[in-house]
Amino acid sequence: MTTTRFAPSPTGYLHLGHAFSALFAAKQGDRFLLRIEDIDPVRCKPEFAEALFEDLSWLGLSWEKPVRFQSQHFEDYRANLEKLRAMDLLYPCFCTRSEILAATHAPHEGETPVYPGTCHRLSKDQREDWMATKPYAWRLNVEKAIKMTGPLSWHDAAKGEQQAKPQIFGDIVLARKDIPASYHLCVVTDDALQNIDLVTRGEDLFDSTHIHRLLQALLDLPTPDYHHHPLCRDAKGWRLAKRDKSVTLRSMREQGRTPEQVRNEVLGLLHT
Ligand code: GLU
Repeated sequence: MTTTRFAPSPTGYLHLGHAFSALFAAKQGDRFLLRIEDIDPVRCKPEFAEALFEDLSWLGLSWEKPVRFQSQHFEDYRANLEKLRAMDLLYPCFCTRSEILAATHAPHEGETPVYPGTCHRLSKDQREDWMATKPYAWRLNVEKAIKMTGPLSWHDAAKGEQQAKPQIFGDIVLARKDIPASYHLCVVTDDALQNIDLVTRGEDLFDSTHIHRLLQALLDLPTPDYHHHPLCRDAKGWRLAKRDKSVTLRSMREQGRTPEQVRNEVLGLLHT
């Protein structure tokens, strides 16, 4: 019995790429769950969550209820953050985005730069002083964490056995300045709490799995199998984006296309 999930963020209308991801997950699971990743109250909107239920139903999908909304489970994320803090694996980071950008360079255009470890080197006094006066995020001391767990691996259905390389992102943020959690922390917590044993998602998230594997080991959580699928691209080879209205499921439905036609279109877009 395999449990899979589709975990969109309600930041816009779903497009063909999401349709593929959702169909892919549903097809591989005996149980299929939907999770709304809405921890960011600025970017996520309840109306987009409503719209995605509608669009996925129209596409012919159904899922177990109740749907898990991450914004209703900050206690779960806090508990895991506390565990890591008790293991002395976290440190507060006061850096602003522009300070980080000035101190490093992003590996590729648009990518998050690898954090240079500035706040890890603060003195105890400085740290305590700033904690009382400045906003801060919590970062994971990845080198220390890796020493604790030793080498780790995980399995991807498309690419086979992987040696975990969690250091590629540097010391990642587990709780943001504005939100007491982060994508990595929430995903790992929820996949375990929801007993997901096969995580299917786009290959743009392949590298995140290195971090997720490390967090699972630190928090003593089971490691699911993974299947990172290719992304749907338009005729020019560009990734589909939520801001491109022409490919939203909504606009296709309004133009009179049937769910069957859209499902076929999705398969056609998949350049493997
Ligand atoms: N919420 C993420 C997204 O919309 C997907 C998370 C995941 O599948 O792990 O890109």
